[in-house]
Amino acid sequence: MAASTEEGRKGGTVDSKGIVLRVTQLDSSQLDGELHQLLKAQFYRIFRFLKPGILAYIEPELNALLRLLTWQFSINAVGATLGQRMMNLKYNNEKLVTSDLVKSQRYLYACVLIGAKWLQERSADLSSSTNHIQAFKLMWKAIYLLEKLFSIASLVNFLVFLQDGRYQFLHERILGIRAEFAQRQSIRQVSFEFMTRELLWHGFAEFLFFLLPFINFQRIRNFVQRQLFRPSQIASSQHRLKRHSSHYTECGICGEWPTTPREIGCCHVFCYYCIQSNFLADPSYTCPLCSQPVEDVTNIRPITCDVR
Ligand SMILES: [Zn+2]
Ligand SMILES: [Zn+2]
Repeated sequence: MAASTEEGRKGGTVDSKGIVLRVTQLDSSQLDGELHQLLKAQFYRIFRFLKPGILAYIEPELNALLRLLTWQFSINAVGATLGQRMMNLKYNNEKLVTSDLVKSQRYLYACVLIGAKWLQERSADLSSSTNHIQAFKLMWKAIYLLEKLFSIASLVNFLVFLQDGRYQFLHERILGIRAEFAQRQSIRQVSFEFMTRELLWHGFAEFLFFLLPFINFQRIRNFVQRQLFRPSQIASSQHRLKRHSSHYTECGICGEWPTTPREIGCCHVFCYYCIQSNFLADPSYTCPLCSQPVEDVTNIRPITCDVR
């Protein structure tokens, strides 16, 4: 028990309510970012048939709206971000007696999460449009300085977080809230057999990925196809050369209308891509319809019109 507590102290934070590893907290914030992107993508899909770029003008406002919705249904409703809920975490109030977030904390959190981010995204446009007024000029300078200071403080805070695992973000430290397990965690136990099996499978999969590029699947497929569906021997050399108008409209390999048509000496016509790629992958490639071999790349030539 003493050992596990010591381990917890090294890996995260220890307190009376449970251990939250730093990696869990980092995962939760990563999830928050991913969820926002996911939500944004879904939202933008609604407007995909509109004129392109129409949403670019109001992107910061849309982001703020989505963050407001997320905040309403996460922090404001249950006192935990969406990512934290997925990791079984919630914010715990450190400053006051009650463990849940109080109203002021929730609204201040919204100011940081929605207001500050909106200002950050919009500041370039706003400052360029109001920069000619002296008072605004000073204000933007102050905001710029504050932003720099906040960035430095955030970096210092993160370094401290890596050391003690308590407050991942600066606003958590200022508000006195910190992530904690919503329900008590049971100790994770992974059996040795499972780990060995995982390692073996992983090694095997890596070996396969290394091996696969060396196998010429197209050549094997062509060989099997030749053996199984060998074209009937009635395709005598005389018959092979007789070309009908229907031959011009269908590629002998893909069956589509031939693109940049080519021939290899028989009556069949192929797309340039179809015949060239097959020949490059398999030098013993033959016409799939009459077994006429390509033999040499110079035999793949533009077709000469001789309809009978
Ligand atoms: Zn084709
Ligand atoms: Zn042919």
